[in-house]
Amino acid sequence: MSVTDRLDTPTDAEVILADLRTWLGTNWDPDLTVAEWWELLGTSGWAAPTLPTTAYGRGVARSVGVQIGRTIHEFGALGAPDGLGVMLAAPTIADQGTPEQIETLVRDIVTGQRAWCQLFSEPGAGSDLAGLSTRAEEDGDEWIINGQKVWTSLAKDADLGMLIARTAPDLPKHKGITYFAIDMHQPGVEVRPLREMTGHAMFNETFLTDARVASSAIIGDRNNGWAVANTTLSHERASLGSGGGASRGMLLTPGTVAGNLTKRVGDFVQAPKPARKAAAVGAAVGAVDSGPARRAGMHDLLIDQARRAGVDQDPLIRQDLVRLYIVNELGRFNGERLKAVRAAGGDVPGMANISKLSMSNIMRMVRDVGMQIVGAQGMLHAYQPADQVVLNEATGNPMLASVTMTALYAQAPAIYGGTDQIQRNIIGERVLGLPREPGPDRDTPFSDLAKNA
Ligand SMILES: Cc1cc2nc3c(=O)[nH]c(=O)nc-3n(C[C@H](O)[C@H](O)[C@H](O)COP(=O)(O)OP(=O)(O)OC[C@H]3O[C@@H](n4cnc5c(N)ncnc54)[C@H](O)[C@@H]3O)c2cc1C
Repeated sequence: MSVTDRLDTPTDAEVILADLRTWLGTNWDPDLTVAEWWELLGTSGWAAPTLPTTAYGRGVARSVGVQIGRTIHEFGALGAPDGLGVMLAAPTIADQGTPEQIETLVRDIVTGQRAWCQLFSEPGAGSDLAGLSTRAEEDGDEWIINGQKVWTSLAKDADLGMLIARTAPDLPKHKGITYFAIDMHQPGVEVRPLREMTGHAMFNETFLTDARVASSAIIGDRNNGWAVANTTLSHERASLGSGGGASRGMLLTPGTVAGNLTKRVGDFVQAPKPARKAAAVGAAVGAVDSGPARRAGMHDLLIDQARRAGVDQDPLIRQDLVRLYIVNELGRFNGERLKAVRAAGGDVPGMANISKLSMSNIMRMVRDVGMQIVGAQGMLHAYQPADQVVLNEATGNPMLASVTMTALYAQAPAIYGGTDQIQRNIIGERVLGLPREPGPDRDTPFSDLAKNA
């Protein structure tokens, strides 16, 4: 049976959610393993419903996808596999991959069988990503990869990587790049963790030394990887941007390394919590994809905090809380506007960039008002969960660790997925039609460009 036979495309959100509740009533069983549950969820189109119906999705709008995640959580079932597979690799392969790649790679993502990481940034190529120098050289039906990547989030848990590498140095830099799905479990791939100021080691350096990848693992066409990478980046910006959302509950790492697949799925879910508590949990996690779902209701959490700390009548704190509420609402309205324009067949150029910029701003505001509310206690931070419990008890503030962790993490959104400055450049050049930055980059062969030593 093909994917299209299995899935339909209902258009009305209420109909979709009613279908989902019925489906959950029939299929949810806490005694299944995580792998068995994700197999059901993924092949039914509920794990990644924004994917097209031809790629294990239901073709719904992002806002409906958020409601689907929330409905699964409210039902008390485990939601979709977390991570960069569902968020970035699956939509990219759905757009640019072959039917065979969809049947294997996307299927393994939505059913949680494989976890992914993103091998884009290099020590000499971040904002100027097209300046990357990791090489891929053809060897029969395979390619040999040599180079170094950095800031590779979650690489330790990854089975596969979205790799961009230079395949034609004699072409201009944007034209000689190819996008591969590379197996992370091979001797030529070495992952070294980097400890961050949050105390976590979400980041890694990834060294590729004569690593191998098959030609059949090229996503899109050879030397057309820049276009494919931009598909990934646009999904990254859209999913990380502001625009409202709600908790999708427990986020569980997929793949063969994390070791969750054989466990009992019921052990990962708790009785559903009210939305505001769920948002608090999200803020405490402060992990890689602290996207709209996790930020939703953050102002409610902070209002609770202010009441508890007895500063809810402080005029400056009240003003900042209202500002935060307004910026969140603007993000939500922008999301609704985009939905309406798209439903009418149009688009709002630059919205993904605008919403990512807005999200960075929201995170800074959350950091600042959170630290104002907790006052001097904000100078205390515990890195380990057990120590956080002790510190929360000692200070009498059950949310202190969540506030300080958010403050430490708040620098990240302005950098990952393209910095704030780069988002503004894109809006200026591609939306407002301002002149491009001058330079020989676009036409000169990559091999002739000046590079750092
Ligand atoms: C939490 C987090 C997770 C990440 N996860 C991943 C991942 O999983 N995979 C991955 O590949 N990468 C990842 N990254 C890397 C991220 O994409 C890069 O850090 C980012 O693109 C910036 O590149 P850079 O660090 O090299 O900074 P640079 O490009 O060196 O920029 C330094 C500064 O110069 C400014 N700047 C640079 N060029 C311009 C310009 N043309 N105009 C104006 N200002 C400019 C930048 O805005 C920035 O302020 C992650 C980063 C973070 C913080």
